Amino acid sequence: MESNAGNGAETGTVLVVEDSRALRGLLTSYLGDWYGLNVVGVGTLAETEAQLAWEPGRFFCAALDLNLPDAPNGGVVDLVQSHGIPAIVLTGFVDPALREAMLAKQVLDYFIKRNLSDIEQVAHTIGRLWRNRQIKVMVVDDSRSFRGYVQSLLNSHRYQILAAGSGQEALDLLAAHPDTSLVITDVNMPGMTGLELIETIRRQYRREDLAVIGMSDASKPGLSALMLKTGANDFIAKPFQVEELLCRVNQNADMMDYVRRLREAATCDFLTGLLNRRQLLEVGEKLHANARRGHFLLGLGMVDADYFKRINDQYGHLVGDEALKAIASALHKTLRASDVVGRYGGEEFVCMAVLQSEIDAERVFDRACAAISKVGFKSGGREIPLTVSIGFTTELGASLNEMVERADSAVYQAKAQGRNRVVRWSMADSDR
Ligand code: GH3
Ligand code: MG
Ligand code: MG
Repeated sequence: MESNAGNGAETGTVLVVEDSRALRGLLTSYLGDWYGLNVVGVGTLAETEAQLAWEPGRFFCAALDLNLPDAPNGGVVDLVQSHGIPAIVLTGFVDPALREAMLAKQVLDYFIKRNLSDIEQVAHTIGRLWRNRQIKVMVVDDSRSFRGYVQSLLNSHRYQILAAGSGQEALDLLAAHPDTSLVITDVNMPGMTGLELIETIRRQYRREDLAVIGMSDASKPGLSALMLKTGANDFIAKPFQVEELLCRVNQNADMMDYVRRLREAATCDFLTGLLNRRQLLEVGEKLHANARRGHFLLGLGMVDADYFKRINDQYGHLVGDEALKAIASALHKTLRASDVVGRYGGEEFVCMAVLQSEIDAERVFDRACAAISKVGFKSGGREIPLTVSIGFTTELGASLNEMVERADSAVYQAKAQGRNRVVRWSMADSDR
């Protein structure tokens, strides 16, 4: 979906049972294009049985047509669910009795197939299930049975659930899981109340970092406003409909997603997913200041792609873009987690490495240069040689900018000496 140098390669498989070949194809291409998901598509109950006979655990969810040639009344739902696979239902029409029947079967959601945008919605729902696996939601309620109920509900939507029986337990659990995205809390609890919990959470986490949904009592009309003022992102009145809770949880998880992506867009280079120039310089200034205080040795390398104009001229700008991504990903993989790498501009990257010794600097940049020359970048089946010239320095100078200029003048030397090499800046060279 997004091209990030650090993305994991895990893929999921969805079972799609739908007798219309066209709808199956559409859903398959949406799921592949938008979420990188694989689809196994079949058109009958008998074919579904055959698929499930072999490793049913490979399907993380299923989209099921209620009306199949060999199962006209939703028989496929029971079959798929009996293998523990969460199901989304597709139907030509929805009447209230069918809705009740489907909810009783605990299907995740149901969709009426009227037009293209309905199929898009199905794809988005499946994409969200896939995303939910990464999202931690905490349920705080003193009633064990209620916690269990919400837990199983959200679990079936693939959220990771943490459960706490009191406000204090919630705070402890939050400290152990600081990557929690959403807290759903009851208001009436012995000990710390839900309002006190929200207040405490807000001293530590902003609304856009940790969302809170308060569960208020419908008979106390002022309470929901009070919760929002105290810092809740949203509220839901008890008792609630299952679908309402799910909608609120999903909407809040979506909101967190948007915020994360906006942040990424502000700090990351769009093409390569590395830090952009502004962020690179901001992080770089901090590293430079700490290095000047003597906290560590810092190396800064300027990495400039060799003969890059030729790649664009010969193979086109799009292939050039892919080549830049390949360089970025090789740099990202070669450098250590403590190192910083960003796109400085065009076909130039800057790497900053916290070093053990002067000789370590040579090693770091030699390794990066060698890794890029071994990428084996291909376009249209043909290998295109990809190399970089690196200039680096460990001389801090008076400012980060001075370091960058020194590294840049060493790049110039590397180019002059034949490219695909690493040159350390020296005073003598830059005086020339
Ligand atoms: P040298 O080995 O001397 O560095 O040669 P070069 O061709 O790499 O250097 P030059 O500075 O002449 O050209 C850089 C080229 O990089 C020109 C520009 O079109 C290309 N470039 C810069 N940014 C991008 C980009 O985002 N995508 C693509 N495809 N090309 C880019
Ligand atoms: Mg250049
Ligand atoms: Mg270049």
